[in-house]
Amino acid sequence: MKKIIILGSTGSIGKQTLEIIKKDKNKFKILLLSTDKNINIISKQIKTFKVKNIVVTNQKKYKILKKRFKKIKIFPDFKTMDKKLKVKADYVMSAISGIQGLRPTINIIKKTKRIAIANKESLICGWSLIQKELKKHKTEFIPVDSEHFSIWSVIKDFQKSDIDKVILTASGGPFLNNKIKRNVSIKDAISHPNWVMGKKISIDSATMMNKIFEVIEAKKIFNIELNKFEILIHPKSYIHAIVRFKNGLIKIIAHDTDMKIPISNSIYMGDNNQNFIKSKKINIKILNSLNLQKVKIKKFPVIKILNRIAKNESLFDTVIVSINDELVNLFLENKIKFLDISSKIWHLINLPLFLKFKHQKPKNLAQIERLNEFVRLKTRSLSVISQKK
Ligand code: NDP
Ligand code: MG
Repeated sequence: MKKIIILGSTGSIGKQTLEIIKKDKNKFKILLLSTDKNINIISKQIKTFKVKNIVVTNQKKYKILKKRFKKIKIFPDFKTMDKKLKVKADYVMSAISGIQGLRPTINIIKKTKRIAIANKESLICGWSLIQKELKKHKTEFIPVDSEHFSIWSVIKDFQKSDIDKVILTASGGPFLNNKIKRNVSIKDAISHPNWVMGKKISIDSATMMNKIFEVIEAKKIFNIELNKFEILIHPKSYIHAIVRFKNGLIKIIAHDTDMKIPISNSIYMGDNNQNFIKSKKINIKILNSLNLQKVKIKKFPVIKILNRIAKNESLFDTVIVSINDELVNLFLENKIKFLDISSKIWHLINLPLFLKFKHQKPKNLAQIERLNEFVRLKTRSLSVISQKK
């Protein structure tokens, strides 16, 4: 039986991971699930999968769940869980959203043989720390973001020096073919045409920040130079990545817009029984209308940020993630407009106050977390003050 841990089991990726497991229940045992506040969903998950260990990070909800389930271990935070729960899993899915996922992701590496990481903020802000833990505990890593899983699956048997170009595709989000009005609602911004995802990543897809993050993510995990990356718009999201090799081959990876494809591969990879995914027929209609286009900077101004990304690993990556996180929060709180996210992020990342972090390497987790807090506070105060003027 494969022993499984899911960090963020009540979110979009977490739920899809459990759906895959449910179909093949006899092969798996769930050791631990986690939520921030969604205790109703996790209550159902506890019963369906007979889970004995749960982390609930929201303290009010933790107390309620603790009363609801007296016979199982419910932890109020990851630190307590880490100390008290001595287990070794076969597979962890890291699917907490945001930089809050970084510490639990790093700490869980020692408890598992394989970790699939969907939480892109962790990879962007803490890749060198994650990599260190992976090596130390000989834990296998599989990226789950669909573009990264695609790239990973075609380059894992090649040398880095064999790669000439990597193209990441972007759907263009809900506003690709519409004028972005000043009064875009939250509902409009999260209505992604191809994927159903959490709120934060849906807004990042609408601004195109998601693709900036994905370039940084890919640059780090594959150790490929920034100038080898390109972003192309591909509205149908059928192709996820294109890799051109120096031997003249170009590999194009396509699959249906279904996150269960990378997720189930990350669970079953290496198993003898690989008939886990029911492959659909090749979609000739979509292949005949791929419609790959360059990204228009006027429509997606955040694309300019590609010229600001630090070449080497630095704390500036955390700065970009934290500024964007806070601006998205401000938009969700109706404190700034949708279009402000792009203009303010460009303004803020160019402030000397933040640019200086380009020359500092991340040393440890606490430093990244402190920087995240500082950048968020600054972003909030600078954005709300400038809004009032
Ligand atoms: P969701 O918002 O749907 O789910 C996030 C999960 O994390 C939930 O279980 C949530 O709990 C938990 N969580 C949120 N905040 C905290 C916190 N402060 N402490 C502990 N747990 C917390 O996100 P997604 O599933 O869409 O995305 C997860 C990650 O995967 C993100 O980093 C995203 O960028 C990445 N990703 C997602 C894709 C997708 O298709 N959804 C595709 C590629 C990458 P609760 O339910 O209580 O809020
Ligand atoms: Mg992606």
